[in-house]
Amino acid sequence: MIQAIIDEATIQRLRAMINGVQRIAITCHKSPDGDALGSTLALCHVLRRLGKEADVVTPDMAPRALEFIPGVRDIIVFTKHEARARRVLADAQLIFCLDYNSLHRIDRLGELIEPLTTRRVLIDHHLDPEDAFDLSISFPEASSTCELVFRVLMQMGLLRLMDRHAASCLYVGLLTDTGGFAYSCDNPELYEILASIMRRHIDRVALYNKAMNTFSADSMRLQGYAINEKMQLFPEHGASLITLDKAELERFNYNRGDTETLVNKPLAIPGIYWSVFLREDADRIKVSCRSQGDFSVSDICARYFNGGGHENAAGGEFNGSIDEAVQVFYQVLADLFPDIHPQQQPTTNDNNEEQ
Ligand code: 5GP
Ligand code: MN
Repeated sequence: MIQAIIDEATIQRLRAMINGVQRIAITCHKSPDGDALGSTLALCHVLRRLGKEADVVTPDMAPRALEFIPGVRDIIVFTKHEARARRVLADAQLIFCLDYNSLHRIDRLGELIEPLTTRRVLIDHHLDPEDAFDLSISFPEASSTCELVFRVLMQMGLLRLMDRHAASCLYVGLLTDTGGFAYSCDNPELYEILASIMRRHIDRVALYNKAMNTFSADSMRLQGYAINEKMQLFPEHGASLITLDKAELERFNYNRGDTETLVNKPLAIPGIYWSVFLREDADRIKVSCRSQGDFSVSDICARYFNGGGHENAAGGEFNGSIDEAVQVFYQVLADLFPDIHPQQQPTTNDNNEEQ
């Protein structure tokens, strides 16, 4: 039995909101991942089948590796189709906010949405949602926003509109936000949701391979290089640090998404229970953290890296050089483990020659 965890009053209000409008915009966070894209595209597809004019608007492009998700090509990308994105948001009578908890997570889309009086509906599983939404469906204990979209559809009696296309989108989000059903997936109801998705005859093997096990040759080589030459282990702290600077990324023809699962890899090593990855992007250092068990990386990202996320998967940004970001990492070690004194290790690849 899949329980109705969203209270009935919320479902009633959502039903009334949807019934009362025709034009609906659906947004997700920047650098959209499988869950952000899967949840927005599934909801969009169902709303269209319901007869609504629905559109997905994202702050920036989907990574190439996720272009296989059904409907991705229809997305209105703010950084690419700015005028159209502005028009769709201005014309929308209802705005869905999926897989983010704060308008800051959607960059300039947030500035666009904030002054609008259009009603906003949050469907999300991040901790501590902002009080910026007219209706909030926030369950940090949920595996994914895709799980929540399924539950919303179920409780609204709309599962009959979840066809193969929508089910495929939801499957991708469930799959990617649980690392291929490896974590955040202990709720038995998830497998009942999965059963319902499977009944739509999705091409599960193809979706799995595309979502979890497809990398370009450059990406494979970049990941191999990062693990072989850049992974620093701090066994006493249970920690791993990987950094990649611009020159290293360029050497491997880096494309967005190429380092997507890299931060998880060190967690395979016995005794390593948290992992930090620092990547030098054009205008900032992108921080990604993963952990196992009770060790929360969302606190670390919130406190040190202007970010947040989930207990075991979080991220943030650092304004400064990659070396400065590494110093912040050492500060985290010192603050969390005051009795252990790590040896500073070389951070750039050219230092390897000195070893
Ligand atoms: P990733 O490491 O894959 O970029 O992100 C992991 C998790 O942390 C995701 O759930 C994502 O929403 C969250 N996250 C990533 N970057 C940021 C950020 O800059 N700010 C906040 N608040 N959360 C982030
Ligand atoms: Mn998510």
